[in-house]
Amino acid sequence: MTSITNHMPTAELQALDAAHHMHPFTTNDELSAKGARIITRAKGVYLTDSEGNEILDGMAGLWCVNIGYGRPEMAEVASRQMMELPFYNTFFMTSHVPAIALASELAKLAPEGLNHVFFAGSGSEANDTNLRMVRTYWAEKGQPQRSHVISRKNAYHGSSMGSGSLGGMTYMHEQGGLPIPGIHHINQPDWWAEGGDMTPEDFGLARAQELEAKILELGADNVAAFIAEPVQGAGGVIVAPDTYWPEIQRIVDKYGILLIADEVICGFGRTGNWFGSTTVGIRPHIMTIAKGLSSGYQPIGGSIVCDEVAEVINACEFNHGYTYSGHPVAAAVALENLRILQEENVLDHVRNVSGPALRAGLEKLADHPLVGGVNIKGLMASLPLTPHKATRAKFAGQTGTAGFMCRERCFANNLVMRHVGDRMIISPPLVITPEEIDVFMSRAKTALDETYAALK
Ligand code: PLP
Repeated sequence: MTSITNHMPTAELQALDAAHHMHPFTTNDELSAKGARIITRAKGVYLTDSEGNEILDGMAGLWCVNIGYGRPEMAEVASRQMMELPFYNTFFMTSHVPAIALASELAKLAPEGLNHVFFAGSGSEANDTNLRMVRTYWAEKGQPQRSHVISRKNAYHGSSMGSGSLGGMTYMHEQGGLPIPGIHHINQPDWWAEGGDMTPEDFGLARAQELEAKILELGADNVAAFIAEPVQGAGGVIVAPDTYWPEIQRIVDKYGILLIADEVICGFGRTGNWFGSTTVGIRPHIMTIAKGLSSGYQPIGGSIVCDEVAEVINACEFNHGYTYSGHPVAAAVALENLRILQEENVLDHVRNVSGPALRAGLEKLADHPLVGGVNIKGLMASLPLTPHKATRAKFAGQTGTAGFMCRERCFANNLVMRHVGDRMIISPPLVITPEEIDVFMSRAKTALDETYAALK
C-alpha cells in the first residue's frame, strides 16, 4: 500500500496526480505542465492548499457546500450511521430509516403535491431517472409515442449519456455520440449575450415561445416533458427575464406536458427559497436534486416526484435503480444538512444578509471597466466581462480568453471564481458573512485590475 499524505511536497503530489488520476473536464497537458492545486483541508468558506494558502471559495466547491466546510455534526452523523448500518439497499422490498426519514423530510419541504422521492447517487443519475420516468409515465398511460423531451441549449444536466443529452453543451455532444435520440434543444433566455436590441421583457417572451414552436413542430402528442434549471448555473448563471417563466408555465399547462425543474444547483437555499421553482414561480411535476441536498458532504441525488406521476410509476414495476439509491450514510448526512439549514435559518440569511451583501458588492464591481453587468439570484451570480459595456460586446478572438485569465488571477489572489467563457461565476457557501464577502470583493477587484492590465 503506498503512503501518500498531505505532508508530501506539492510537486511530488502533482506528478503522481498527473500520472495516475484522470480529471473531469481537464487536459492532461495542462495537469502535467502546471500541476493541479492540491486542496488539503477546508473550514467555513476557506480552503487550504498544500502550500498553506488560504483560499476563499467563491464557488462552494461545485455549487454545493451550502452550509460551509468542516461541520463536525456532519462527520458525527456519518460515523454513527456507518457503525449502525453502513449499507443496505432499497431494492426488492427492503428499506431503512435514513432513506425513509429523508424522503419524508423532502416531501415536507418540497412545494405542494411533490411528495415522493426516488434516490440516486448524483444529479446526472437523477436526470437519467427522470428521462426514463417521464417516458415510462406516458407509456403506462397508453401514450408511448410521447417520448420526446425538450431542453435548452447551454443547459447543464449532467455527464452521463442521458443527462449529457438533456444538457445543451455542444462541446459535450461532440464526444461519445450525444445527444441520444428524442432530445431537442431550444434557445436559452440569455438576454445579456443574445438579446441584441430587444428589451429583456420582449426577449424573455420570445425565448419562452420557442417552446411552443418546438412542441408544435414535434407534434404536441409526441412531447413528454420540458426540462430546465430555474436559473441556468453551469451555463453562466443565466437569470431569465421576468416574462420568461410565466410564459413557459402557460405553454406547459396548455399542452399538458410534464415540467422537470433541475434544482441541482438552485435547490436547498441557493436562490433564497428551498427551491428555485418557488423563486421563479413555476409548478414542476418533477424536481432533480443533488449537491446542496447534502452540502456535498456525501454523494447523493434524487428526483422529487408529484403525486400524479408517482401514482402511475408506483403502479407499474419501474425497472430502474442504483446500488446507492438512498444510501444510508448519504441519507443520514443529507438529513443532518437539512436540519442545519433549518435550525440555523440559513435561507433567511441568504434572503436578508448574504444575498443583499453579495448583490451590493457585485453592483459596485460592475463599475469596473471590464465588467458588463451583474446577473444575480440569491447567492448565485455572474459577471460578464466585455471590452465595451454599452454594447455588451464580445472580445475579439477566442471566447473565454479573458475569463480564463481572470480565473487564473483570482486563483493567484487566493480566490476561487470560475469562468464560463468570458463570464465570471460566483456561488459561495450560503453561510458566508458580509465580512467574508468584503474579502471576496477586494480579491476579485485585484484580479479584475490585473486582467484588465494584461488585456491592454
Ligand atoms: N444538473 C445541474 C443543474 C447541475 O449543475 C449538475 C452538476 O453541476 C448536474 C445536474 C449533474 O450533477 P452531478 O455532477 O452530481 O452528476
